[in-house]
Parts: sequence; structure tokens; C-alpha cells
Amino acid sequence: AQRLAAQRNQIDNILAPFQLSPTTLMDVQSRMRKEMNIGLCKETHSTASVKMLPTYVRATPDGTERGDFIALDLGGTNFRVLYVHVGRKDNVGVQIKSKSFSLPKDIIQGTGAKLFDHIVDCISEFQHENNLQGRRLPLGFTFSFPCKQTNLDQGILISWTKGFSASECVGQDVVRLLREAAVRKKNNDLIVVALVNDTVGTMMSCGYDDPACEIGLIVGTGTNACYMEEMKNLELLDGDEGRMCVNMEWGAFGDNGCLDDITTSFDLDVDTFSINPGKQRYEKMISGMYLGEIVRQILIVLTERGILFGGKISQRLQTRDIFPTKFLSLIESDTLGLLQVRSILTDLGLRSTCDDTMLVKEVCTTVSRRAAQLCAAGIVAVVEKMRENRGLDNLKVTVGVDGTLYKLHPHFAGVVQETVKILAPQCNVTFLQSEDGSGKGAALITAVACRIA
Ligand code: ADP
Repeated sequence: AQRLAAQRNQIDNILAPFQLSPTTLMDVQSRMRKEMNIGLCKETHSTASVKMLPTYVRATPDGTERGDFIALDLGGTNFRVLYVHVGRKDNVGVQIKSKSFSLPKDIIQGTGAKLFDHIVDCISEFQHENNLQGRRLPLGFTFSFPCKQTNLDQGILISWTKGFSASECVGQDVVRLLREAAVRKKNNDLIVVALVNDTVGTMMSCGYDDPACEIGLIVGTGTNACYMEEMKNLELLDGDEGRMCVNMEWGAFGDNGCLDDITTSFDLDVDTFSINPGKQRYEKMISGMYLGEIVRQILIVLTERGILFGGKISQRLQTRDIFPTKFLSLIESDTLGLLQVRSILTDLGLRSTCDDTMLVKEVCTTVSRRAAQLCAAGIVAVVEKMRENRGLDNLKVTVGVDGTLYKLHPHFAGVVQETVKILAPQCNVTFLQSEDGSGKGAALITAVACRIA
């Protein structure tokens, strides 16, 4: 019994740094607020870690948008091409045909020319399969990496994230790279109208159904958010009238060290062995690309200390990325039995007891709960800023959300919502899951642009 108590003590010590009190979360919130202001302010923008990038999207949809569009979605595990028909809202609404293409590692980590050639090949294949050749449709390019936009159809890639590292792209206008690849590949049917961040696409697609949707949130491979900011606060741009959507690039929150005090040794390990050490520190505590890795690091330490799996580490558990975030969803599922959890562990070469499986579940819950709470702290920073901007005692606002982690994890969304409610009692925040955010949203942004042009 004494040994058990000592073990429990060790477990608690290991997991304690993941348990963030409401006070700490409010503190994270206020640090995010501070970083947002640094990003918006002209003098400090260039050194900001949360970049607060103007998107040139000035309004959410009004429902009068019409037409046929092509949308591209590049920014995660797959590349997608979509054909989007935007009809009368009371008639067909938005109809979408799409196809996903996998992105092999040698493409996303090869040369830029190869990446964009591959993209155009995929588009050509899609056009061919859907009899779209010769139809010069306006195109919205959802490109979910930090870009310094100078126009709706122009954006310089600031840095790659989420495992991408194609050469000769950083510092380049990605719309130009796409157009050049189209020329090389003799595809004359592409008219690129808008470069779209996936957060903005998500906000717009939900905005089509809910005019109160003025925030976009992604929690998938990576995490990011955007919201409608007052033009007068966007010091980088001329003009004080109205609003513009700001792509926060909030994944980089903490890159200046401001989250070091809540960073655990496991987070540091995940960061050190990632393709971009020191970067995207907030994202690495929250998103799908990393949560499984954090859990794996904890499991290794628990095993090394003889607390798990009889102290025996399998070869597989020592392999990077062997524990995908999907496992957290499975293991934390309320309907999954211990036997099924055990079979996941067996597949990893681990012999587990009943106590082991319960402890693994506890580790997963701890890691995903912290992720959801940190994400909520970010959202609270945004809604509180909007409330202050508008001089309101109470703000009612909708967040459009996309991303597999948010959508498929059994508890993530619930913890985000519950935490926002506690931390921002003056805001009434509704979360709306977007359907095909980047596709439909990109088409709507393109449609709005075509309508205005
Ligand atoms: P992206 O963000 O790349 O556009 P997704 O929103 O589909 O695309 O997110 C993919 C990420 O979601 C992967 O990194 C993976 O870790 C995570 N993921 C996949 N399936 C699940 C699941 N069932 N539960 C939680 N996370 C998942």
C-alpha cells in the first residue's frame, strides 16, 4: 500500500504542471491580450510573436452572393480541390463537389516548384473528372500558413508550420507561385481572386448561416483564430472606418517565452524534436499534430519510473509520432471499454494491466483538457477585446469552428465551451461547427470579392 501511495504521489507530481487553475488561465488570457496589442501596433508589429495579420476581408457574407467557384485547401494533412456553387439561399444554397489528394512528405518537404506543380496537377485532374476544362472560374485559395497579405490576392509566406518545409517559398508571394505553376503546367483556367486563411474561411462559411459569427477557430493539425477587428486598431493599414478580419496566427503565442512558466518538460521535448523548435509554442500545447506526442513522452517517463507497463518500454513506444492524437479520442471515449484501450496498447507492443489502462486514460484526459483550456483562454482574450472595442457590457458572438480534433474528440469542445463560460461571464459565446469551412468559406470570400469588383 505504501508503494502504491508513493506511485500515486509520483503520478500527481508528473501531471500537476498540466493542471491550470482559473487564475492561471485568466493570466494566460491577459498575456494573449497583450500580445494581440503588440501585433496590432505599428511600432511593435515587426517583432510580435502573435502577428495579427490583416486579411483584406472586410465583411461577413450578406446572403446575396452567387456564382460558381473553384476553391483550393492547402494547409494540413490533405490538399483539396472543390467546385462550389453558391445559389439562392432559400433555394439550393451552397453546393460542393470536392476531392482530397494526399500530400506525401517528399512533396511538402521538397522544393516549392515541385509542391506547386503537384497542386496544379491535382487541380487539372479534378477539372478533368468534373468536366470543368475551359471554364475559367474564379478561384479562392485557402492557404493556411502565416502570410503577409498586401491585397486580397497577394500574400508573402512568412514561415511554414505544421510539418511543411518546401524550399524557395518563404518570402515569396504564394499566389504568384501558384500562377507560375499553372503556366508551367499549361493550365489556363485558373483565375486566382482571393488568398484565404482557413480561419477566415471558417468564419465566413458559418457567417453565411449566422450573421453573429465574427470569429473563426481551427483546432486540427495546428491551431489558429481570426476575428473582426476595428480598422482604427489596425495601425498597419490606412483608414479608420469599419472592420477587417485579422488572422491572429495565434499558434506562435509563447514564442517570445511568455508561456515558459506553464511549459512542462514534456512540452520542451516535443518542441525540441519538432521540425520547428522554439516556434508555435502555444500550438504545440493544443493541436492534433502534438497532443499524442506529449502523451507518449509522459508514458515513457511513467514507464521508466516503473509505474506503467511493469517498467518495460516497447521499441514502438520509443518511436516518434507512433501515438497519434486520434488515440486520445479513442481512449477518452466514454463508450470504449478498457479491453479496447488495452488492444491499442497491445498494438504498441505494450503489455498492460487494468491499472495501466486507467492511468493511460488519465494521462490522455489531462493533456487534452489542458489543450482545450488553453484554447479557451485564447478565445476569451478575443471576445473580451471585441467587447471592449464595442464598448459593450455584454457581447453576444458566434465562433465558427473547424478542425478534426475539435470535432471528433469526445470532450475537447465541451471543455472549451465550459471554460469560456467561466472565464468570460460577460460574453455570450456560441460555438458553431463549420461544414467545409475552408472550401465554402473561400468560395464565399471569392464571391464577395467578385460582387464588389
Ligand atoms: P487540418 O488541420 O490538417 O486541415 P484536420 O482538421 O483534419 O486537418 O486535422 C487533422 C489532425 O486531426 C491530425 O493532426 C490528427 O492528429 C487529428 N485527428 C485525426 N483524427 C482525430 C480524432 N479522431 N480525434 C482527434 N484528433 C484527430
